[in-house]
Amino acid sequence: MIEKYEKAGDILKNVKEMVLKIVKPGVRLLDVAEFVESKIVELGGKPAFPCNISINSDAAHFTPKRNDERVFKEGDIVKIDIGAHIDGYIADTAITIDLGDHDDLVECAKRALENAIDVVYAGVNTSEIGAVIEDTIREFGFNPIVNLTGHGLEPYIAHAPPTIYNVRVEKGVELREGMVVAIEPFATDGVGRVVERGECEIFSLVAIKRLRLKREREFLEFIVNEYKTLPFARRWIDVSDVIIARLVKQGILRSYPVLTEVGGGLVSQFEHTLIVEEDGAKVIT
Ligand code: MN
Ligand code: MN
Repeated sequence: MIEKYEKAGDILKNVKEMVLKIVKPGVRLLDVAEFVESKIVELGGKPAFPCNISINSDAAHFTPKRNDERVFKEGDIVKIDIGAHIDGYIADTAITIDLGDHDDLVECAKRALENAIDVVYAGVNTSEIGAVIEDTIREFGFNPIVNLTGHGLEPYIAHAPPTIYNVRVEKGVELREGMVVAIEPFATDGVGRVVERGECEIFSLVAIKRLRLKREREFLEFIVNEYKTLPFARRWIDVSDVIIARLVKQGILRSYPVLTEVGGGLVSQFEHTLIVEEDGAKVIT
């Protein structure tokens, strides 16, 4: 189990190095997303979710559409959030790439993540992690995003308990030895909260129900076999929008709309996956 987590983490370390070199003004977002997803496969893993590329005020859940022509622009602050799994054992990591002049905002999220990792050991309360993240971000003069969180990782579940807030909370939970968790501080010069902005290209299976239409049954079977409960991109699958909408409506699929900073602030993010140890943590990404 640990070996599989570590292999997934090693794949992401390699992919991150490569991504840093290819994200530039004029490059298509779709080319970067497809590069990431195919490299993960080439290196022996599978994408745990679509490559998320969230730019400027977007914080999470953006992935390009099929034939998306959008390109990176001079000045963009780009969050690349990637996941790989080996037999369901997931590693999840994110970096911010600055195509503009946002040094402090980028440094702030990076430092918040480092400081948070420093206080992790078996027995630490998640409220302490949140407090460290919040304090670090506020010291830089920015705001943590209060409704985006870190999380546990379980086989084929990319967002498992416990929730790891990026702010102090009244009552957190204790991390135990052997838990695999992702910590992901988001910092902004905006309000510190995200809202959905409509566009949605990511979905995942949440329930299996009986379906009358053959086309829908076949599609559901494909999802179960191919992705299980892991998120997938609209552009990965060959099915009509009508079918997707029908399955969302029936509570079979859930959608992940793009989350954007409510005040229009710029957003930075860093994320690592770690295994909680008796006296510390092993970062695998
Ligand atoms: Mn992530
Ligand atoms: Mn995550």
